[in-house]
Amino acid sequence: MSATLIFDGHLDLAMNAMEWNRDLTRPLAEIRQREMHMKDKPDRGNGTVCFRELRKGKVGFVVATQLSRYSCNGSSFPGWNSPQQAWAMTQAQLAWYREMEVLGEMVQITSVEQLDAHFDLWNNEEIPDLSKPIGYILSLEGADSLVDISYLHKAYEYGLRAVGLSHFGDGRYAPGTKREGGLTLPGRELLKEMSKLNLILDVTHLTDDGFNEAMDLYKGPVWASHHNVRKIVPTQRQLTDEQIKQLIERDAVIGGMLDCWALDARFIDTISDPWQLNIRLENLVDHWDHICQVAGNSLHVAIGSDLDGIFGTEQAPWNMNSIADLQKYQAILSARGYRQEDIENLFHKNWLRFLRKAWS
Ligand SMILES: [Zn+2]
Repeated sequence: MSATLIFDGHLDLAMNAMEWNRDLTRPLAEIRQREMHMKDKPDRGNGTVCFRELRKGKVGFVVATQLSRYSCNGSSFPGWNSPQQAWAMTQAQLAWYREMEVLGEMVQITSVEQLDAHFDLWNNEEIPDLSKPIGYILSLEGADSLVDISYLHKAYEYGLRAVGLSHFGDGRYAPGTKREGGLTLPGRELLKEMSKLNLILDVTHLTDDGFNEAMDLYKGPVWASHHNVRKIVPTQRQLTDEQIKQLIERDAVIGGMLDCWALDARFIDTISDPWQLNIRLENLVDHWDHICQVAGNSLHVAIGSDLDGIFGTEQAPWNMNSIADLQKYQAILSARGYRQEDIENLFHKNWLRFLRKAWS
């Protein structure tokens, strides 16, 4: 079976580079080896993502984030102590993406023309995949770092094309995962400004109240970059059937994620073991299947792996070692009755269709 092009709708590459000090231009074994003595992060020595593995897995497109939270005095979630510090960190992350562009490791995509040209490049079999750059759409995961709304315009100028209002904890624009309640006043203002710029709203990490408000207020394009199904994993972090239906009505695409606690309700963050609970790549197919059943088609499911989102092999399906193993989904999905057309929808066509429509 030859590899099919993959578009991964959610990776935190720059956070890994700048806060984990990972040089993603190096081989995975070396990145892991240099971390073997470190204990400061839960996933030290267990990383699954680097440029070489992305290329090996034919992951030619990614949505790559800037991610930097603000944490108010007394908050139980870590973050920067001021919005200005959070902004400065996103600028360091941007500078890293720019350096990767200089090296030819990545190329930024902000228009349909660039999207189509990059698609043609990855379909050109005369050029080896290992020498192709990874195309990235820049997204902001949690908007805390936008000091005020004028910063949204600065960010648009350097290529930002998608924004999620919240991440974990309170959030300046909206409360995020593990919190309750609706958008803040600045959050509602930010949505207005985002629609003027036709930015993509990422609903992942919103609370239920925040989701309802944002879906009502926002008239621009909406996606859920890394989000599974609440019927299977009953926590607020995942989507209810009602939310899935609303997203389908908006022609949204939902990226399935591979963090074990989003795959299987038994998994306890940083404690459980994927081997012990037998959590495999196959588990995500149940989530995709559910969304396909609700939609009646395969047009709204995709990959939003989150594989470098503060976890590595200790919290990912046990039958994968690196992001290149996403290709295993070809065999897994066809064994589950998915036709090649459905597999291509899920692997890349849905994200590409969404972006062509949003940007044309
Ligand atoms: Zn996330």
